[in-house]
Amino acid sequence: MNSITTFQTELAGNPARIANKRSLLLRLIRAAQPITRTEIAARLEIDKSTVTENVSPLTAAGILREEVVNAAAQGRKQRVLSFANDGSYFIGVNLGVRRSQVGVTTLKGEIENETDFETPSDADRALENVLACVDEIVKHRPDEKLVLIGVSVPGVVDASNSSLVFAPNLNWRSVDVVGALGKYRVPVVVENDSTAAAMYEARLKIRNSSDGLMTNFILVRSGTGIGVGLVIGSEVYRGSGSTRGIAGEFGHMTIMAGGKQCVCGNRGCWEKYASAAAAASLYLGDRSLRPGETVPRFVEIVAKAENGDNRSRRTLEMIGNYLGIGIANVIMGIGVPRVIISGRLVYGWRFIEQPMREAIERSIVGKTSGWSVEAGEPAGAAIGGALEVAVESYLATI
Ligand SMILES: [Zn+2]
Repeated sequence: MNSITTFQTELAGNPARIANKRSLLLRLIRAAQPITRTEIAARLEIDKSTVTENVSPLTAAGILREEVVNAAAQGRKQRVLSFANDGSYFIGVNLGVRRSQVGVTTLKGEIENETDFETPSDADRALENVLACVDEIVKHRPDEKLVLIGVSVPGVVDASNSSLVFAPNLNWRSVDVVGALGKYRVPVVVENDSTAAAMYEARLKIRNSSDGLMTNFILVRSGTGIGVGLVIGSEVYRGSGSTRGIAGEFGHMTIMAGGKQCVCGNRGCWEKYASAAAAASLYLGDRSLRPGETVPRFVEIVAKAENGDNRSRRTLEMIGNYLGIGIANVIMGIGVPRVIISGRLVYGWRFIEQPMREAIERSIVGKTSGWSVEAGEPAGAAIGGALEVAVESYLATI
């Protein structure tokens, strides 16, 4: 908690300090490009001269370009900044519990060439699939330069962002991702998928709002499991010291003593009650499957609820209640009242939201004002998050 508090004091409460971080300025330009210097200054609450000071060396180096465009609304010309197309590209790899994706992006734009495969149960085989996809991408871009590979994984990442320590839902341990991708001779950055999703959501929010940067928020990603990404003082928070990388593992906080058995070895974990995957067991209750019956998928339960099926509605309401209990605990622990939910669970938002709010209102968080929970991306954060890791890691080095 101390290091979080230090973070907040150092960065969040001090816009001037944020402005000195060039990576934040680049993040805004990337999210909102094309953008004028005036708008950058306003959104970061800094002087226009500070913007110019930071931007000039980057335009001179050919990283950013400035061009004159017609501003239709004002009926006059204005100069706007965007990233230059310098023939470099980034690869993102999202290793998911069920499916994995590999995609490409550039500093200018959106996701390209996304390929997708079912994640093999064996980590080495999964990495072989990744290598095959990356080989294919590299082969088809002979004149372009691969800069960096970002990899998002559903588990705890080591302190140096180079290997996966433990992915409970895949039962993978100590996977040397950087070693496996060494042959491309570019930096490889491994990140927890919820942290990656938080980076992705932050960029979407920056792009779609007139605010500055997303300073503080908690991202709860609920799909096969639950992961939490923390953005504090405009930066992702991963923990510190020997537990760096473990911050955000709230999916495995106990919310039911002696509850359902979890893949992590403990019982009663939050993700056994509030993940999209938990819906099936809540829906079935104690009964076992009938002959020929398959475990209902989350989207099937949502579809049934939409058709008025009471059992499905009740299931989603239970999920909402458990989700709210966990969110209240997370807000109380971190002291950040803004929460974004992403992942498959968002498909059932219509039924989940109200019971979730009621659960939060019963907690001490509900006695405060200003907390908010909103739905983010149901899909897309997966490969989007991995690409975000790649590009952000690069921007931090400029
Ligand atoms: Zn667990």
